Amino acid sequence: MIETKYFDNAATTFCYPEVLKEVMDNAIAYPANPSATHREGREAKAKLEECRASFASSLNVEPATIYFTSGATESIQIVLASLLLAKVPGKVIMSAIEHEAVLSWSSILKEKGWKIITLKAKNGFVDPEELKANIDSEVRLIAVQLVNNVIGSIQPIESLVSVTREKEREYNRPIFFFCDSVQGLGKISFSLTDLDVDGASFSAHKIKGPRGIGALYLKKPLQVIAKAGGQERGVRGGTENLPSIAGFTKALSLYLAEDKTNIININTQLRAFFKEKNIKVLSPEKNCSPYILSLSTKLPSEVLTRMLSDEGYCVSAGSACSNNAKGKAENVIKAMGFSDSIAQGTIRLSFSVKTSEEEALKLALLIYLKTKDF
Ligand code: PLP
Repeated sequence: MIETKYFDNAATTFCYPEVLKEVMDNAIAYPANPSATHREGREAKAKLEECRASFASSLNVEPATIYFTSGATESIQIVLASLLLAKVPGKVIMSAIEHEAVLSWSSILKEKGWKIITLKAKNGFVDPEELKANIDSEVRLIAVQLVNNVIGSIQPIESLVSVTREKEREYNRPIFFFCDSVQGLGKISFSLTDLDVDGASFSAHKIKGPRGIGALYLKKPLQVIAKAGGQERGVRGGTENLPSIAGFTKALSLYLAEDKTNIININTQLRAFFKEKNIKVLSPEKNCSPYILSLSTKLPSEVLTRMLSDEGYCVSAGSACSNNAKGKAENVIKAMGFSDSIAQGTIRLSFSVKTSEEEALKLALLIYLKTKDF
């Protein structure tokens, strides 16, 4: 597989060779457990804290607000599971277009007596007024992602948080605002401090880092369900994966420094091409990540993705979170107000700086030729 024909970077990315080396170098240089009290353990711990400081500085936040986890799914789980410690269940509000890692908590919480309110997201955007209308004194947590993983829409987090803070003052109770920021990290510019969210999740493998490593941002420490060995200041137990943490930290600094012009050009050219050929683009023109371009054709997405795969191109049917990803992505697209047939024909192209313009245009032409007679 060559990276220039890989159009599935929202699912996962090719790891930077420099990051693979960083992982290996750190595995060799710091073999000891960072919790051990001998010199080698203390050295590993110092390296871990050096990574945390660098990671936090890339995000412009304090090192104490960053906790390393095994991925965004675990970061999300730590926050959502903490609700189960509440003496009395309350209400959670989440958008209908959250990733499964968030949505799947709906049934778990409901079973424990929590009420879940799901916000629609017409054309891919959550409406702050709708959020406002749904916050009452029982709401304990709100989860709205930064960038949607299926169509790339960027949510109005600042307005959503501002509405939340207003209601907090009205009811004189804290409401935790959680923002799954996986598809935003390194791809759009944002400040966690300006957004004023309480928690955010990140994943290394979406930014050319290693698999199985993620981070959780917490404005304030959180009481969690499984403290386990007490690592990561009691928020995420388990021996720290120092080599991968070093890899994630390196990937973040490399990714942030990348010149995104190529991606913006490709996105613009493909949009113009699909418009000319009357192919429906679902990704909004404004407030959208340039890294994702979703479109819908008359062919069922699994048929088209297979045809494109036969020609050496990797694209996905909306999302790739599980074997049942197509069904899940379709639900998300329907929650945006698109019809069943549009949802069934949705494919997602997602880019990296290595995506070639030439291959992108070839792929667009191929999509047109394969679908024009249906
Ligand atoms: N949230 C979003 C928006 C995602 O796109 C993904 C990955 O597909 C996740 C969460 C889960 O991330 P991870 O694979 O690190 O658990």
